Amino acid sequence: MSEKFVGTPRKVSTHVNQNEDLIFEKSSPGKKAYRLAELDVPAVDAASLLGEHTRKDLGVMPELSEIEIIRHFTRLSTWNYAIDLGMYPLGSCTMKYNPRINELVSRLEGLAEAHPYQPESLSQGALGIMKLLSECLIEITGMDAITLQPAAGAHGEFTGILLAKAFHTANGNPRKKILIPDSAHGTNPATAAVCGYQVANLKSNAKGMVDLAELEKAVDEDVAALMLTNPSTIGVFESDIHKIADILHAKGALLYMDGANMNALCGKTRPGDFGADVMHLNLHKTFSTPHGGGGPGSGPVACKKILEPFLPTPVVVERENGLLGLEYNRPQTVGRVRAWYGNFGMFIRALAYILANGPDGLRQTTEDAVLNANYLRAKLKHLFDLPFDAPSMHEVVFSDKRQTKNGVKTGDMGKRLIDYGFHAYTVSFPLVVPGAMMIEPTESESKEELDLLVDALEQIAREADENPEIVKTAPHTTRLQRLDETTAARKPVLRWKAPAAATPLTPDSAAKEW
Ligand SMILES: *Cc1c(COP(=O)(O)O)cnc(C)c1O
Repeated sequence: MSEKFVGTPRKVSTHVNQNEDLIFEKSSPGKKAYRLAELDVPAVDAASLLGEHTRKDLGVMPELSEIEIIRHFTRLSTWNYAIDLGMYPLGSCTMKYNPRINELVSRLEGLAEAHPYQPESLSQGALGIMKLLSECLIEITGMDAITLQPAAGAHGEFTGILLAKAFHTANGNPRKKILIPDSAHGTNPATAAVCGYQVANLKSNAKGMVDLAELEKAVDEDVAALMLTNPSTIGVFESDIHKIADILHAKGALLYMDGANMNALCGKTRPGDFGADVMHLNLHKTFSTPHGGGGPGSGPVACKKILEPFLPTPVVVERENGLLGLEYNRPQTVGRVRAWYGNFGMFIRALAYILANGPDGLRQTTEDAVLNANYLRAKLKHLFDLPFDAPSMHEVVFSDKRQTKNGVKTGDMGKRLIDYGFHAYTVSFPLVVPGAMMIEPTESESKEELDLLVDALEQIAREADENPEIVKTAPHTTRLQRLDETTAARKPVLRWKAPAAATPLTPDSAAKEW
């Protein structure tokens, strides 16, 4: 371990042996990871089968034994951080534990191997899962109808705004603008723009909430909808949500609720009851389906009756003979938004999670998520600046204001957290808070784990005062240290390239190149 690490190490899982990743350099001609039986048919070479389509530029491929390959990939996996290794306090992302029961159920043969073109009569189980999940989500959100098709939260936003547009168009005027508060997730304005709307920004008030007077001024007959995240991206519940809905509805505009933060509401209150007309859910946040490299997302869109005719097709329906089927005949549909029926494996996981928890369990989950965030808030507010004093829901946003006087920024402290065995919190987001440090513990973490995070952040705050350099140059314990983020983002090197002859790649040169 680096001598620069002065804190109390917890678990540094990273196996650091800088010489071990030179897999290409270990290659030697003819080495193989397999042995095949002798051919019992005449050999044919690829070129005679494929002719001009034979690939000519195969490039450099390493030749290795099986165990070298196994060790290479296993080693690579240990250079990553994962929710299965420790806490992932990444605000806004709801990185909760993915219960193993979900995985087990989704791997049941009859589900995992179901084919989307299987006849309806042989797909009753799969259709039943979609129907039951739909019913559960409708109940949880207080809405009237739902589509499971969208493949992510942002895709759900897109679908939801298409519904709003179809609704307004059917009423004679698609309208021009979507209102978006300044605390919104970046996907909201992107969605509005992709759907052909102008984005009109709404300023938040001092509590980080929608300013009703500003809203009143902004809503007119050109506004198609307000896209509102509730609780907001700063973890604050819009206490005037009913009034917000009324102001919009009075002008014929709709309330789109970005439901990515349902982890703070599930089982406690329902968007359908407080005035939302259409919303998306992130199954991969609230309902524990893996995300962030762990699996595809799923962003179902629930809506009120007035928007139901426009939902994407096909829709799961019950036929007269009692069997379930897929209905395609919906004349006002916005059309399909995704191939097949959505990410079916995620439906199974989310339903398993909902059924395993039950209504009481889901409510408890919400309470624990909010309790955990408020515990961290209470334990850390003497160390870090708290820009908004409204009560926190499931996440808490601090800023680096006190540490910047020593030149230590949110990104530095996030990177230093890695040295203490945690994933970083969300850095510099939401944009309304300069130097934001956004922490979302989720309900998955125990008090002991939260205390370890508090200890680590306490130590980092102390370091920022006494030894800012160590924070500014973090991380020190990872395989690669501080990267040039601009170059990494603008010119990512995503695959290994054969080094120029006679200069084999070394860890140092690799680090530089990366
Ligand atoms: C995560 C998130 C989204 C986007 O969801 P994706 O599944 O990543 O597309 C949108 N809005 C909010 C508030 C979010 O937290």
